[in-house]
Amino acid sequence: MTTESTYGEPARHGSARICRGCWDQMHMPIPIGGPLALPFRAFGITRSKMNPDICTICERSFQYVKKQRQITVDATILFADIRGFTDLSERIEAVRLTEIVSLFQDRCAQAIWAHDGIVNKQMGDGLMAIFNFPITRKDHAAAAILAAQAIQRNCAAALNSLAPDAAPGRPLGVGVGIHSGEVQIGEFSSFRSDFTAIGGVVNQAARLESQAAAGEILLSAETAAMAAALIAGAEERTLTLKGIEQPVRAHVLVKR
Ligand SMILES: [Zn+2]
Repeated sequence: MTTESTYGEPARHGSARICRGCWDQMHMPIPIGGPLALPFRAFGITRSKMNPDICTICERSFQYVKKQRQITVDATILFADIRGFTDLSERIEAVRLTEIVSLFQDRCAQAIWAHDGIVNKQMGDGLMAIFNFPITRKDHAAAAILAAQAIQRNCAAALNSLAPDAAPGRPLGVGVGIHSGEVQIGEFSSFRSDFTAIGGVVNQAARLESQAAAGEILLSAETAAMAAALIAGAEERTLTLKGIEQPVRAHVLVKR
């Protein structure tokens, strides 16, 4: 089996006529494209900002969709952020920083959506993505890795064209961390209505990202085992992660 035939071409995103999240979670066809979507739009049901192939029902009405406050889902969590951004933010004007952040967020979102993930949280120069909810993908680990590789391909040169005066010898780059396993998904805030994922798997993905150098993708052994075809020949590294007692084995994919 080749990588192509196993994982297929990236899906076209933003073109779904019915919400893929509501369909996968409830088998309910909620129109989000074409004339049938118009009456729904009148009631405020539109494409979600987390992924344009899902709708604002599955984004904001988790308890309606799942009939529970929270659920346990086997998922892959991806964190990405701009390395060198804090340094840079002290030296260049706010308007250029804004351009850099929006370019980063936009390129990352395109890559994540192309592989059926959602951009669950955006935190300035960083983000958190979830794969396998609410759009289900059996190959969610591979989908996240392919998205991370697209992020690395599409970000570095573009970021540096916006910041030609980044510290000499330390160009801007993106660090990515990925981990797979059981997460709790639900609404955990009393004042926000969108869902998120919590749990040890989420924390470990964030810790892996914090150890990734510019251009690196750090994957846990669990993620790597689910997508062996994509990580053949990757370097392995033993890491001590904050808040995690045992050393963690990570696979390192480097932008080529
Ligand atoms: Zn939906």
